[in-house]
Amino acid sequence: MKIHHLDLGPARPLGGRLMDGVSPGPVARLTCHCLLIETNDHGLVLVDTGFGLRDVMRPTPRLPGWNIALLRPRLDPDRTAIRRIKAMGFQPQDVRHIVMTHLDFDHAGGLVDFPHATVHLTAAEAEAATDRRSWLDRARWRPAQWGDTARWHTVETRLGTRGSGSGETFFGLRNVREIQGLPDDILFVPLPGHTPGHAGVAVKGPRGWLLHAGDTYFNRAEAHGAGFAPPLLAAYERMMAADAPMQRDSLLRLRAMLRAPDADVAVFCTHDPVEFAAMAAWSESDYAPLTAQRLAA
Ligand SMILES: [Zn+2]
Repeated sequence: MKIHHLDLGPARPLGGRLMDGVSPGPVARLTCHCLLIETNDHGLVLVDTGFGLRDVMRPTPRLPGWNIALLRPRLDPDRTAIRRIKAMGFQPQDVRHIVMTHLDFDHAGGLVDFPHATVHLTAAEAEAATDRRSWLDRARWRPAQWGDTARWHTVETRLGTRGSGSGETFFGLRNVREIQGLPDDILFVPLPGHTPGHAGVAVKGPRGWLLHAGDTYFNRAEAHGAGFAPPLLAAYERMMAADAPMQRDSLLRLRAMLRAPDADVAVFCTHDPVEFAAMAAWSESDYAPLTAQRLAA
């Protein structure tokens, strides 16, 4: 297994470090941190998809206007999953599975670019996104991005639901689920609140366990630091939370896990540019021995 960290929705919102905690000027950086996993027996697996080719070619009316005005994503076809994957020498149909943390417009845009892939998501997310009850629901969930929903494979993650059982634990996080059709080193870790069916995705790679925590938090300080996002980002995060107390509970459980002495797992979220840089560098350093060999040859 090989894991690639891809930013499939780089954004440049205004707000500087009030938004991302680091940028000195008026413009901040946010990422859309997705994973491309080369598995041994299951082809390529994507974890989240960022913006899709159609989104960047024709953002209106596919994407919610006020979110795009706030986030100012760089809508560049060469930064979509399909173009990045082709540039790496793969074919779109090599992507056989897509595992979604949730279906928000900045995560689900690439689904329609991979019609051959099976899409794995939680049952709670599929139900809520299909219902689209509130104005926020209708802004965040964009059915035009989804392609054929007959290929959705849902996983029941709600405790107490018939047939759900109690699941396993992952470093103390409860109710973890295997994903049918995928090996047991790729798991759903329910972290609801940002959306009703939001889940982290745990992946056991060559260097141990990773947990892609999706939008459980937006800035590294929330999970790894003082506990609070920079103020402008915190306001956006609050606005987008389907259930803020539930999201807080998920974040507190994640923080408790990170404090445990046996938590041998690298945790990162979708939109933090510093976490993205750190994970991408860490993952690339896997290949350092190869480079050294090549240099010696
Ligand atoms: Zn997001």
